[in-house]
Amino acid sequence: MKIQMVDLQSQYQTLKKEIDAAISNVIETAGFINGPEVDQFAREFAAYNQAPHAVTCANGTDALQLAFMALELKPGDEVIVPSFTYVATAEAIALLGLTPVFADVDPDLFMLTAASIEKKITPKTKAIVPVHLFGQCAEMENILLLAQAHNLYVIEDTAQAVGAVYTFSDGTSKKAGTMGHIGTFSFFPSKNLGCYGDGGALLTNDTRLAERLQILANHGQRTRYYHELIGINSRLDGIQAAILRVKLPHLNSFCASRNKSASFYDAAFCNLDGICIPKRSERSSHVFHQYTLKCTGINRDNLRAHLQKKGIPTMVYYPLPIHQQKAYTHFVQDSTGYPVSEQLSSQVLSLPIHSEQTEDHLSYIASVIREYLHQEVVLV
Ligand SMILES: *Cc1c(COP(=O)(O)O)cnc(C)c1O
Repeated sequence: MKIQMVDLQSQYQTLKKEIDAAISNVIETAGFINGPEVDQFAREFAAYNQAPHAVTCANGTDALQLAFMALELKPGDEVIVPSFTYVATAEAIALLGLTPVFADVDPDLFMLTAASIEKKITPKTKAIVPVHLFGQCAEMENILLLAQAHNLYVIEDTAQAVGAVYTFSDGTSKKAGTMGHIGTFSFFPSKNLGCYGDGGALLTNDTRLAERLQILANHGQRTRYYHELIGINSRLDGIQAAILRVKLPHLNSFCASRNKSASFYDAAFCNLDGICIPKRSERSSHVFHQYTLKCTGINRDNLRAHLQKKGIPTMVYYPLPIHQQKAYTHFVQDSTGYPVSEQLSSQVLSLPIHSEQTEDHLSYIASVIREYLHQEVVLV
């Protein structure tokens, strides 16, 4: 079988009976919109994350937008985001008339650090959005301390790290997305907990915020046809909720399986010149949404083209940092302030990883890369 970045079909085949039954149940009971499956999934998702409140919505981008709306940020307020992330993080901010302020990231963990954030704080700063990139948590302890000191909100973009666990220096642990004021999640099909369409959710420990999020996601109404806030229409639909309810109990084993693949890759590549295996955070577990190599001594695009020829798909997350994206350059004050993001954009290469990878495929990918690196004569 063909090697894929993400294999959604094999996972479906192993859960097919339950998923098909769950979907037809929603259709037969016509629980399409805000039905019992949605409520039930919200409760189960909150319980899985040991969070008091979960609010579901239509996708991970809406989740971010709803978070900023619920926190009542005003046009002109500054929100610090990484320059190396998916565009959605900054998009929701810009759409609301808030000002995204980009901060450079750590060269090994690819994420914001308290130090990089601190340089960007001004009197207008209202919030920070750490993105738990590729499956592990940003350095939340220091980020939360910094946020507290400056009275800033923390919104965790957890689209890529559902299920990751962060351990604080006092030994306590928390799930990704439950440490700041609000955590946002995406259930896009290729995310670690993916539905069969679009889906999203938010977690918060704050009862008042949870209530506002719920109201905002439903046209600003608590009681039907009585609108107390200007909201949006952002719903998780019943069929997607039913699918997510089947998959959630398997999430930890999906993550374990991804970790097995990652360990295989680590062992195959750890001693090679020219590439670096992904660094593991000391404080966070890793759910390996992506397994991302850094090509430090060879040309990334040549390796990528070679793998493509050998039937191995790869992806570059992300080829252009946000501060260099056409739609966002006008937000940038100092365009020379992002050397790490720019370098990463030319070095990163994500390999196929998912919950159904076979030993055969992993061995093949490893041998092709190892062979290529031993052949490569001219180092750049
Ligand atoms: C996928 C993703 C989103 C957006 O989620 P959607 O459900 O596609 O809207 C936001 N932030 C990050 C970091 C993501 O990876």
